[in-house]
Amino acid sequence: MGMKTRKKKASLPSLRSADKDFDIVIVGGGLAGLTLSCLLGKTAKNLKIACIDRDDPQRAVDGDFRTTAISFGSAKILDRAGLWNEIEPRGCPIRDIRIFDADTPLLLQFLSEEAGGKIFGWILKNSDLREIMFNKIKTLRQIRHIPSTGVNGFEHKNDKIRVTLENGQEITARLVVGADGRGSFVRDFLDIPTRRWDYGQRAVICNITHENPHENRAIENFWPQGPFAILPMNDDEKGRHVSSLVFTEHGPKSRSLMQLDEEAFLNAVAAKFPAFYGEIDLASPRQCYPLSLIHASRYIGPRMALVADAAHGIHPVAGQGLNLGFRDIGELAGLIAQAAENGEDIGSPDVLETYQRRRRPDNVAMAAVTDALVRLFSNNLLPVRILRRAGLRAVSKLPPAKRFFMKNAMGAGE
Ligand SMILES: Cc1cc2nc3c(=O)[nH]c(=O)nc-3n(C[C@H](O)[C@H](O)[C@H](O)COP(=O)(O)OP(=O)(O)OC[C@H]3O[C@@H](n4cnc5c(N)ncnc54)[C@H](O)[C@@H]3O)c2cc1C
Repeated sequence: MGMKTRKKKASLPSLRSADKDFDIVIVGGGLAGLTLSCLLGKTAKNLKIACIDRDDPQRAVDGDFRTTAISFGSAKILDRAGLWNEIEPRGCPIRDIRIFDADTPLLLQFLSEEAGGKIFGWILKNSDLREIMFNKIKTLRQIRHIPSTGVNGFEHKNDKIRVTLENGQEITARLVVGADGRGSFVRDFLDIPTRRWDYGQRAVICNITHENPHENRAIENFWPQGPFAILPMNDDEKGRHVSSLVFTEHGPKSRSLMQLDEEAFLNAVAAKFPAFYGEIDLASPRQCYPLSLIHASRYIGPRMALVADAAHGIHPVAGQGLNLGFRDIGELAGLIAQAAENGEDIGSPDVLETYQRRRRPDNVAMAAVTDALVRLFSNNLLPVRILRRAGLRAVSKLPPAKRFFMKNAMGAGE
């Protein structure tokens, strides 16, 4: 395998020599890379791990106003990583999910009472998740978090990989995990082809304060230009009721909601916000994310594996992107810990192929389901509209079908 490099940045203080040889180097310290670091730190205690992220930690915490819906299955993985005790109190439980199709009355409702009182998941601020993970990593002796510099080269040498950082430093690893997001450098290095397409949609996100409590209600309203979702959050420090908004749009950027001044944007939001919430106001700046699907044809290469968005990125319509990533992490960490415990090679083809074989079907299925949902609900043709509304009404009247959807919404399948 050849060496690929990118332009070097200004040098940082050099690593001590004891800090140069690692068992695992995790490229990318977003929510996936940080979770994997914490999980390995708890479950594979004899392994030395480096987690390298190009971002500055404070900028990563302050610069992301998104929220993430965390499923039960993900909560279990976060618990194994020693993170859930701190995450749960900051999460807002979802007890009521309401689905609308544009301007229809309520079409489908899932209530936690119908699921034996179980909640459907939790809404967390991404900034809270990152902060908790950064703090946890500091307490894990064998994890070295190296922020503010990227990885820009790899070279395979016998049973090791030499990893070059943008600050010019070099470290080694027996296994490299690419948790470096949709534009993955690790995936590019391995020359892994991807299937990808652009939905021509953008998600404009922000937080909204509202007069009345949300009563743990999540709203998903499918408009032809894309889904409009309202997700419940915990009251803010001033006691105001808050929800997070994902307002999907399409069309030219020059006509984007991002171009509107605050008052015009708030009017556009208010036009779609249910009256139940009362008066609304903006509680954070807006951010905009182009929406696309991407799936790597392989997740592995020699002594290398991809997890989360580096392997697969989906439309956020069902709030499942990171939940899939957590399942990758749970699987890979389990295999690594087992190999380490048995004295086997943690980067062997056997470990990596088992990981890929176990994770691909779930990721492919979820990509297909979300893709079908987006296409079905972005279609404004009358016959399609009539059929999908009839379909949703039928689900709402069929208890077994409702139970199936509720189970999946909770991520209780795992
Ligand atoms: C609007 C929106 C709403 C969403 N809502 C949900 C939801 O409710 N539930 C859900 O499960 N998912 C949701 N998702 C998906 C979720 O946000 C992503 O799946 C998740 O952020 C992916 O995390 P990651 O760590 O894999 O990648 P990223 O967050 O992209 O992190 C990658 C990290 O790698 C670093 N990096 C990149 N290249 C290098 C390099 N060469 N060297 C070192 N570091 C590098 C970057 O600095 C970055 O920190 C949503 C997505 C969007 C856009």
